[in-house]
Amino acid sequence: MKREIPYKIYLDEKELPKSWLNLRAFMQNKPAPLLNPQTLKPMTLEELSGVFCTELAKQELDDTSPYIPIPDEVRDFYKMYRPAPLVRAYCLEKALGTPAKIYYKFEGNNTSGSHKLNSAIAQAYYAKRQGLQGVTTETGAGQWGTALSMACSYFGLDCKVYMVKVSYEQKPFRREVMRTYGANVTPSPSNTTNIGRKILEEFPNTTGSLGCAISEAVEVAVNTDGYRYALGSVLNQVLLHQSVIGLEAKTAMDKYGVKPDVVIGCAGGGSNLGGLIAPFMAEKLQGKADYRFIAVEPASCPSLTRGKYAYDYCDTGKVCPLAKMYTLGSGFIPSANHAGGLRYHGMTSTLSELYAQGLMEARSVEQTSVFEAAEYFARVEGILPAPESSHAIRVAIDEAKKCKETGEEKTILFGLTGTGYFDMVAYEKFHNGEMSDYIPTEEDLAKGFAGIPDLKL
Ligand SMILES: *Cc1c(COP(=O)(O)O)cnc(C)c1O
Repeated sequence: MKREIPYKIYLDEKELPKSWLNLRAFMQNKPAPLLNPQTLKPMTLEELSGVFCTELAKQELDDTSPYIPIPDEVRDFYKMYRPAPLVRAYCLEKALGTPAKIYYKFEGNNTSGSHKLNSAIAQAYYAKRQGLQGVTTETGAGQWGTALSMACSYFGLDCKVYMVKVSYEQKPFRREVMRTYGANVTPSPSNTTNIGRKILEEFPNTTGSLGCAISEAVEVAVNTDGYRYALGSVLNQVLLHQSVIGLEAKTAMDKYGVKPDVVIGCAGGGSNLGGLIAPFMAEKLQGKADYRFIAVEPASCPSLTRGKYAYDYCDTGKVCPLAKMYTLGSGFIPSANHAGGLRYHGMTSTLSELYAQGLMEARSVEQTSVFEAAEYFARVEGILPAPESSHAIRVAIDEAKKCKETGEEKTILFGLTGTGYFDMVAYEKFHNGEMSDYIPTEEDLAKGFAGIPDLKL
């Protein structure tokens, strides 16, 4: 029976998912395994357990269990800010004059301001259960570092964050939120690690990159007793934890008998998109239903739309395992005028494989058009969106405009991953007309591609 649909569909606490959905279990062609960079053999549990908590290493390698129970302690934490609302964007539809029905899943309702807390709390829980003292990590725009700091303080763990230098300087308030939660924050590259010192020697004026901060955080984790490394995107375990986004969205839509025609999400390392599409893609893979999926990435860091599908290094220092993914090369650094996140050079292996199989589409968008969409959305829907999330807004609006032309009443679901309160410098640039679009040339890309290893596998 169809009911009239409210602006916000809230689920009951009891409807919070009890298990995460492991999308890989539904894939016939599995994502390629992580390789040991020395032996070029798939990483073993033992090897991965030196870097990650053992339970998380197991999750990383598990491509057969369709569902993995969410520990009660993690569910209890989720209850403080979940289930997250699914919003019917009536105001946006009206403003656009579109017959499309637009829904968004809002993940900005927590202090960290993004979906990253969904995985941070899981990773901190497993670290605590293993009796560790703390974890290390990197953060780019700062959302992941904030989320992990919150999760660590909840479980009484130490948290060492390597923050990309340019963000450390441009986002002092992000830094202070992390310190409020007790984290130790170091700008990267730093002289606290071998790789940091090496990079600083070679490039003394570098403003840092995610790939470099990852190398530093991993180096510290593997060389410090009682520490492991935590990563906020790209890995299979992170996509797994983020499946709560999609599971809740699907439960909410099912309640009202609504089925999305197209599911849209921004893609940096791919974790929110992987989580949002998880239950829908699982149905598609089982032949139970069909959906379109669109990954949206910045034109300045176009790993899916212009990258190569190959085994590549995950970090600048080449200390991490090799992953098969759409990549721009681990040495690729997006143009400095690119604001906000989504700057990672590669894409999670799960989404890479789905894209290679033609099960998902990808689109790249330029940043001024992203901020136009962000501002439009803020004015009609009230929420000030994160620049990353606004990539999805851009394409959702474009799809809704197409429906206006064709008269199709499509149902669009997109992920609104976070709020943009810490991104006002970027908004300021946009308002002052100082924002520009940089699209890497073929030459720029060729430089990055030259760093992809030729493995002759
Ligand atoms: C980190 C982040 C992203 C991109 O990361 P994914 O792993 O691709 O999801 C998108 N939106 C927000 C708000 C973020 O903090």
